Amino acid sequence: MWEATQLNHAPKVRTTPLPSGRPIPVLGQGTWRMGEDPSRREAEVAALRYGLDLGMNLIDTAEMYGEGGAEEIVAEAIADQREEVFVVTKVYPHNATRRGAIAACERSLRRLKTDYIDLYLLHWRGDVPLAETVEAFQQLKETGKILEHGVSNFDVADMEEWVALPGGDEVATNQVLYNLAYRGIEWGLIPWSRERRIPIMAYSPVAHKTDEQKRMFNDRNLKSVAVEQGATPVQIALAWVLRYRDIIAIPKASRPEHIRDNRAALDIKLTPEDLAKIDKSFPPPSRKVPLEML
Ligand code: NAP
Repeated sequence: MWEATQLNHAPKVRTTPLPSGRPIPVLGQGTWRMGEDPSRREAEVAALRYGLDLGMNLIDTAEMYGEGGAEEIVAEAIADQREEVFVVTKVYPHNATRRGAIAACERSLRRLKTDYIDLYLLHWRGDVPLAETVEAFQQLKETGKILEHGVSNFDVADMEEWVALPGGDEVATNQVLYNLAYRGIEWGLIPWSRERRIPIMAYSPVAHKTDEQKRMFNDRNLKSVAVEQGATPVQIALAWVLRYRDIIAIPKASRPEHIRDNRAALDIKLTPEDLAKIDKSFPPPSRKVPLEML
């Protein structure tokens, strides 16, 4: 099933610069729902390693996923290649206090079996004042425990507030829901972020839920673009998210054929005609839509 791992050391995916100048791979691997069931552990580690072999060397996880279990899966997958992998993890909002964020980060480091995290995110906005979280993140950066920090599920108003805080302007990314069915951020958040050269990290880029995926991927226009491009509708949906150079996508896949397809989607070049056809079925927003989240 994993025979194509001979592709070991395939070229790494292209990168985009963070505001600091540090490059970040534009296509990574998600880990939500991993680390929950010990009987799936081996397969989950193998899936992530296969993605790494294919060059998808960014892994997104969170202390929330499997209550630390996903970070342990990641540790196993990257053990012999830590330096090659861009590791993203996230702190729960209720842990994101001045002292709590530091303690949570140290727990994540232990589970990930590493001494630094490439990018540490606030998972979503909770009740803790943002100033406390940024202060903790700055301290973690100064001590080298994290290289970059950022946020997740922040709308424009939250971003305005965050960047106005001391150190908040060092925000590396905002990880948000973005796929064909959820295009709301194109109205406000994408232009706002682009103006400040802050890349967006798109989560659930291939729509996550099976029923939604089915509806989406049976769409006539999407299917027709897929046929013309010699790809699957899911690959077209992923290529569409990746059509801008400053958007990062982190699909989660456990089946080898899905992992292969996702890597190949990065090489699909959608034409203006393809994009117009896709817009017909999945129109862009015509007004501000409040940020949606899963
Ligand atoms: P997703 O990646 O859009 O979708 C995952 C589902 O799509 C899985 O069922 C997977 O199946 C299937 N799939 C993947 N590639 C496929 C392909 N090429 N063809 C057909 N099916 C394919 O959804 P997600 O897991 O919600 O989002 C991705 C990652 O974003 C998460 O894992 C997590 O790391 C992050 N995330 C962050 C937040 C946040 O609040 N910050 C929220 C949600 C997600 P198989 O597993 O069977 O291969």
